[in-house]
Amino acid sequence: MKKRVLVTGGAGFIGSHLCEYLLSKGHEVFCLDNFFTGSKENIIHLKSEKYFEIIRHDIINPFHIETDEIYNLACPASPQHYQYNPIKTMKTSVIGSINMLGLAKRVNAKILQASTSEVYGDPKMHPQSEEYWGNVNPIGKRSCYDVGKRASETLCMDYHRQNNVHIKIVRIFNTYEPRMMPNDGRVVSNFILQALQDKDITVFGDGKQTRSFQYVDDLIIGLYKMMNTSNSIIGPINIGNTEEFTILELAVKIIELTNSKSKIIHLPLPEDDPLRRKPNIDLAKETLNWKPITKLEEGLIKTINYFDKCIKNNRDYSTLNKFN
Ligand code: NAD
Ligand code: UDP
Repeated sequence: MKKRVLVTGGAGFIGSHLCEYLLSKGHEVFCLDNFFTGSKENIIHLKSEKYFEIIRHDIINPFHIETDEIYNLACPASPQHYQYNPIKTMKTSVIGSINMLGLAKRVNAKILQASTSEVYGDPKMHPQSEEYWGNVNPIGKRSCYDVGKRASETLCMDYHRQNNVHIKIVRIFNTYEPRMMPNDGRVVSNFILQALQDKDITVFGDGKQTRSFQYVDDLIIGLYKMMNTSNSIIGPINIGNTEEFTILELAVKIIELTNSKSKIIHLPLPEDDPLRRKPNIDLAKETLNWKPITKLEEGLIKTINYFDKCIKNNRDYSTLNKFN
């Protein structure tokens, strides 16, 4: 059945893939974005689709539309971007979520909230499963994002308990793919760009901290499956890859795959940088019959090829809209 689906943050890297996927499934898609970190380049190829609309809007302001489902993805995700204007980041998670949950309530839409592994903070439980409450600094530089996302989960649960809103909370673990903004400071894009240009690879700290990287295609299927579960399934649910790598291992792999002459250098570890991160995805396997299938090397090769073309074409990535 064709549904009307609102994707907030639809011009971001995950959002743009989700818009594509929803269109391919025959749905009508409203892509809402304030273009803070998102880019028209990510969605321009969809503009000619009959059932695709682009809406420039900031979710900290109320928004009205008749829709059946809402994927609430709007929020800067890279530490460099969410720390650029931390008060705005918190407003997006709190006021933005209230606006989207209020909309879901009014039009009786299902709403999926893009939460994050950051809600576990610097975890004391490894791997992280959904029942773990986390270890989060409420007053640090990352707090605008982690605490904001925790607040958005709380709001989802309260709208569900108080107003019977059909919610779905997904905790997304580190995701990468070609459409990331190369200048957004995240580790995969940083290392690939550095390696392709034979520049120093900037490993923060000793590089022994770990992350588990999932390719965007796997995530999109997980999000879609979660949205299409029965109303009794609300999450939170982890969606991520369970292959854990140290940041140093990632650097070495990217140097190998790009055949780069880059050297690894060490810079100070950012404040509150989590030391270990790996999801327990048993719940997603059982509930959604979902698991990631893309191996790190396979996804990295696709991403490397894309960035290589961007460098050769001199694509301009200075799109961060500083007025948001
Ligand atoms: P992104 O920065 O590429 O996309 C975020 C999008 O939201 C951008 O298009 C941006 O312009 C838009 N946006 C930001 N604030 C907005 C506002 N107030 N109103 C309207 N639009 C706004 O990041 P992404 O990696 O695609 O992340 C998408 C979502 O997934 C975010 O909610 C993020 O927290 C979550 N997430 C991502 C990851 C990851 O590894 N990429 C991990 C965990 C969670
Ligand atoms: N990192 C790094 N060099 C970089 C960028 C990031 O060593 O140039 C590290 C960062 O300190 C963190 C990990 O890579 O330990 C993942 O960082 P990212 O910003 O991609 O995501 P997050 O910290 O939100 O998981």
